[in-house]
Amino acid sequence: MSRPPVTIIGAGCAGLSLAATLPQHTANPVIVRGHPSAAEVQPHIWGFWEMDWLTDAAKLSRASWPMWEFSAPGHRVIRHVSDIHPYHALLSSDWLSDCRKKAQTTTFDNDDIAEQHLPLDDKTDIVFDSRPPQLDEPFMKQHFLGWEVYSKTPVFEAGIARLMDFNTDQSRGIHFIYLLPFDAHTALVESTMFSFTPEADSWYEKAITTYLLEQFSLTEFTVDRTEKGCIPMAFPARPHSSYPAIGSNSGAIRPSSGYAFTFIQKQVATLARQFAGTPDISDIHVPHPHRRRDLLMDAIFLNVLKHAPSLAPNLFMTIAQALRGDELARFMSGIAGPAIIGKIIYAMPKQLFLRAALRICLHALVARFKGPVS
Ligand SMILES: Cc1cc2nc3c(=O)[nH]c(=O)nc-3n(C[C@H](O)[C@H](O)[C@H](O)COP(=O)(O)OP(=O)(O)OC[C@H]3O[C@@H](n4cnc5c(N)ncnc54)[C@H](O)[C@@H]3O)c2cc1C
Repeated sequence: MSRPPVTIIGAGCAGLSLAATLPQHTANPVIVRGHPSAAEVQPHIWGFWEMDWLTDAAKLSRASWPMWEFSAPGHRVIRHVSDIHPYHALLSSDWLSDCRKKAQTTTFDNDDIAEQHLPLDDKTDIVFDSRPPQLDEPFMKQHFLGWEVYSKTPVFEAGIARLMDFNTDQSRGIHFIYLLPFDAHTALVESTMFSFTPEADSWYEKAITTYLLEQFSLTEFTVDRTEKGCIPMAFPARPHSSYPAIGSNSGAIRPSSGYAFTFIQKQVATLARQFAGTPDISDIHVPHPHRRRDLLMDAIFLNVLKHAPSLAPNLFMTIAQALRGDELARFMSGIAGPAIIGKIIYAMPKQLFLRAALRICLHALVARFKGPVS
């Protein structure tokens, strides 16, 4: 009997990562449908902490840092070190072109899917849908613009990534600078906001220019690359498709942080393994990208940020202070055990978080009896 084809809708991170992984486990033909993604055509950086499911990505990454830091006004700088879970920066186009090379059993059909449902040849066809989810406004977003800058004068401290520096303008929302120094001359400098409304490009550009001046006395530099994005910090519904979702369509973007690459790779690897042997198709299930307890913590944390955004720098600094480097890496990658979670809960202001938990319970109750509330 011929093996049923696996159709993947969307040629982005999840779609191509799955197409690259399936041949390790099955000879089923694979069809990827959709034009090359923005991440392939106009590359940006995917940051992640090294984990055992990310060894290929770590090998391909452009740079890594065993040290990273968090800063905010009124706090001493918090520096983390982790030799086992260094932070990596992978260029999206490097990853996606490598996926295309590994996807030997795949036919690429560059046309997008216009229709909601594919005309399937056979009931045994298997379809995974990675089209981005639709979200009802309003929801909090992580929006950002980053410049890869080059300075003739060596100014950057190459061994240390600055993951969050809140020494920035907080007047429009929760705002920090993310700075990845590739060497003393070159760095990705990103102005990142958590708020409901994205800003004009000029706003982030001014924030980057001001930061480079204030922190490095840098006025003379060139911009070699720009990247920008707007990532939902929310819990997506999927009204537009009935196919099993993968990647961000399945909620892989961690609502409280915007990180998704690590969760997508873990999900795709687990999904592809299920194809080994000759499985019954009905036994193949897309794993949830996040644990329920992590999503509950995210919901409470986001509710706190929504109601008290001015406290965000203190809260992020408190979390960074409470954890060691390895612990933070595990927490951000969704594998924190009870001890790490206990440390975070213990460090957080109890009343603030209890009130947020109560608000969430109340909303859930109202939604149950009256339909969804915003
Ligand atoms: C600029 C930027 C920086 C980011 N940085 C990080 C980071 O540092 N670390 C991290 O973990 N995450 C990061 N993320 C978040 C996350 O990793 C990405 O959003 C990731 O690309 C999600 O992968 P995906 O496959 O789910 O979605 P996508 O990569 O968006 O893929 C979805 C695909 O579906 C296609 N599509 C849409 N409609 C159709 C259709 N009708 N027919 C066929 N195809 C269709 C799209 O063209 C796209 O190729 C970043 C995101 C952005 C945008």
